[in-house]
Amino acid sequence: MDYQQLWNSALSQVELELSRVNFNTWFKNTRIVDYKDGEVIIGVPNEFVKDWLTQKYHKFILRILRSIHESVRSVSFSVVKPESLQKKAQSIQISGNNTLPLNDLYVNKDDGLNPRYNFDNFVVGSFNDIAFATSQAVINNLGVLYNPFFVYGNTGLGKTHMMQAIGNTIKKNHPEKKIFFTSLEKFYMDLVNSTNLNKINSFKEKYRKYDVFILDDIQFITGKEKTQDELFHLFNSLYETNKQIIFSSDRHPNFITGLEDRLKSRFSQGMIVDVSLPDFESRFAIIKTKTTEFKDKIPQEVLEYVAETVHGNIRELEGVMNLLINYINIKKQAISLNDAKVLLKNSIRSRKNVSVPEIVKVICDYYNISDSFIYNKTRRKDVVKPRQIIMYILREVFDISYPVIGERLGGRDHTTVIHSYEKIKTNIKTNPELNKEIEDIKNLIN
Ligand code: ADP
Ligand code: MG
Repeated sequence: MDYQQLWNSALSQVELELSRVNFNTWFKNTRIVDYKDGEVIIGVPNEFVKDWLTQKYHKFILRILRSIHESVRSVSFSVVKPESLQKKAQSIQISGNNTLPLNDLYVNKDDGLNPRYNFDNFVVGSFNDIAFATSQAVINNLGVLYNPFFVYGNTGLGKTHMMQAIGNTIKKNHPEKKIFFTSLEKFYMDLVNSTNLNKINSFKEKYRKYDVFILDDIQFITGKEKTQDELFHLFNSLYETNKQIIFSSDRHPNFITGLEDRLKSRFSQGMIVDVSLPDFESRFAIIKTKTTEFKDKIPQEVLEYVAETVHGNIRELEGVMNLLINYINIKKQAISLNDAKVLLKNSIRSRKNVSVPEIVKVICDYYNISDSFIYNKTRRKDVVKPRQIIMYILREVFDISYPVIGERLGGRDHTTVIHSYEKIKTNIKTNPELNKEIEDIKNLIN
């Protein structure tokens, strides 16, 4: 058995079911080191990861491995030496040729750009053509035509890819320009650290010297007043000197909770465009582009079937394509329509498109309170506990990120969410009553 292919195949399913952060944290430096009598031994980089995988993901990994190879009976984890991990690091790179590469591994520290994201591998369709056309106009008229350029749309629709591609294109056309790509979260952390170290002036200087400043996921600005203030002044300084500014968000600026009017009005001075879900033609084009290397092994009818069946965002499409590619790698043969159907049915456990308000409603009904209390600031005891439990469930069951949870529950800071999550998690262990309630709620949700 080819361990590497088995593990690659398993990883692409793991990736479908976990958030990207969780995936990177727990699965990045792992590989199969041995397989004997039905037992798969997975090499991990340290004890911490080993404990975590054993406690949290053991069954999950076993289920996935068994779905690929029936002979797998059990899974165990073993800490492996650094030189063996080197090998794994390479295999991630190699697997980049065989399947779709993992992101985030190739980011340039100086400008935050990942050369993997460019316009050559960016499919344009009716869902993103305006955003694409605007980005080309921005590239050709830096700082003067559409400033700022603001792109918004749901997760997994290519905002980051597009903004990275803009940065990479400008870098190629104008090597002398100082470009910087960062996320709001990183910008925020940088500000906090600089403040703590009394280096706020060098913080300001650093950002003011960029010719092109690209800020991803600005919706996380909710509740971060100091960051808004810094961003406002930075914006003015860059804008006045015709430096190009580009933002992305998961929603229109008017719907970013707590975004100050002065920032909203600055954003509307430029160009605001959205990206939407790809239609059938676009999905087909995306799948085709991403599987060209395997075009002999994936018949047209399979491509069509996937484009018809997978309606989600582009990240989900990529996950499905990884499954197909791994199947081909393992079986060393073309995939038939029938096999593709089986593969898709077994593997895409539809990660429910959770509706946060619905979850909130279920839990509030359970505790007999009005759900409107959850979103406001009340600290009434009978509200505080359900609110904490909601945060816990959204995190634990649905794997939603802390900042997003905070944002959806009335614009709370992510540290509050972390605190609530940890608190419930700890209390469950010593409080059987609470534990029972959580189990009840999980059943209700299922
Ligand atoms: P967002 O930032 O909107 O959440 P991403 O830019 O991270 O989405 O895109 C998710 C995945 O889909 C990435 O791997 C990206 O390369 C891919 N992708 C997005 N848009 C396109 C596109 N138009 N053509 C090809 N691949 C795309
Ligand atoms: Mg993104």
